[in-house]
Amino acid sequence: MLRGLFSNRRGFMRSALAVPGIGLSAQTATAQRKRRAASRDVLAELGVRPFLNAAGTYTRLTASQMSRSVLDAMQVAATQYVDLNELHEKAGDQIAELLDCDAALVTAGCASALTLGTAACVAGSSEDGIRRLPDTTGMKNEVVLQKSHRNAYDHAVRNCGVRLVEVDSARDLAAAINERTAMLFFLNHAEHDGAIGHEEFVRIGKQHGVPTLNDVAADIPPADNLFRFTKMGYDLVAFSGGKGLRGPQSAGLLIGRRDLIEAARLNNSPNSDSVGRTNKVNKEEVVGMLVALEEFLERDHDEVWKKWEQSCARIARNVANLPGVSTEMFTPEIANAVPHLRIRWDYSAAQLTPEQAAEELRQGEPAIEVRPRSSEGLEIAVWMLGSSSTTTVPLTGRVQRTRHFIPVICG
Ligand SMILES: *Cc1c(COP(=O)(O)O)cnc(C)c1O
Repeated sequence: MLRGLFSNRRGFMRSALAVPGIGLSAQTATAQRKRRAASRDVLAELGVRPFLNAAGTYTRLTASQMSRSVLDAMQVAATQYVDLNELHEKAGDQIAELLDCDAALVTAGCASALTLGTAACVAGSSEDGIRRLPDTTGMKNEVVLQKSHRNAYDHAVRNCGVRLVEVDSARDLAAAINERTAMLFFLNHAEHDGAIGHEEFVRIGKQHGVPTLNDVAADIPPADNLFRFTKMGYDLVAFSGGKGLRGPQSAGLLIGRRDLIEAARLNNSPNSDSVGRTNKVNKEEVVGMLVALEEFLERDHDEVWKKWEQSCARIARNVANLPGVSTEMFTPEIANAVPHLRIRWDYSAAQLTPEQAAEELRQGEPAIEVRPRSSEGLEIAVWMLGSSSTTTVPLTGRVQRTRHFIPVICG
């Protein structure tokens, strides 16, 4: 009897391992290992053509790439189970310390940070309010902003069921604030498009006891923008994690006042009955965001800047002796505020517009995406070329085509 049991133990273990959920059969494990070793290129399998990113951090173009160490940290996290709320709180505390602010939350991109920041100002930590959004009955449900700060991403604010109230001047802003005002919204890159600047905006918010939120999504670098606006007195500041910070593309940061960040967390996934439940952030993104932020803060930004300028200069040299071609380096003042190169030529003589040249580059081999909507010339962003694994292709200028030239920037 005993003997029988013992002799059957091996067989029992084997069949237990073969039962899904209990273990893996040796065969499946080997097959899995082989598949992993083969390191599948699913994009190639699907026939999705990759390109060199000379455009910048555009979401539609998958924006930025994470560093090896960020990916490694995410992979380690992916093999473990944790309590997601605990992770959110501890990572948030760490990020708040790094950014020298009260509190922080990793969100599903900056758009989600805008929704959660608004939800925090509208429903706060009220269980009933959190459940009810986007129905704002009985809650403060107006968000005031300058007309020139309206933009596509304010949909993320409107997701909370609020009404946007547009104003032009500081006087209008103060007059628009009433007992229904939940929040004042500022679009950082529109700073020079409206009459009210940061300081005045924040002051008016404080005077009336209404929280202010600044959308700084794509405006890193400069690195100082990570600190500047909470120091200035904004109650909430929102950033994209997957643009200049090179964290996970589906991550972002909401930082600021502790009570509001805590309310944002309550309005967020994993709480099922919340407006933020559609904005899920799992452990990999939380960990990846934290590590990417650490790396960003440790980076020698002057050194990186010099490299970007050198890349621009190299491309400029490559196209310098093409007939009629001129180049200039430029840095957008806010958003994507990094060195770019603009290439111009005699469009009519060449019978080639910048848009047509951009299309030629898109169709070329390797495919190259340049900055969208650059009718003033062909605009090249170099900062996302460096982090691309496909950029072993050297960038050189070439004149091609029989009838007219095309500044083809590839190797
Ligand atoms: C990109 C962007 C967002 C959205 O950021 P995600 O991280 O992609 O969610 C919001 N606001 C502005 C101004 C942006 O440029």
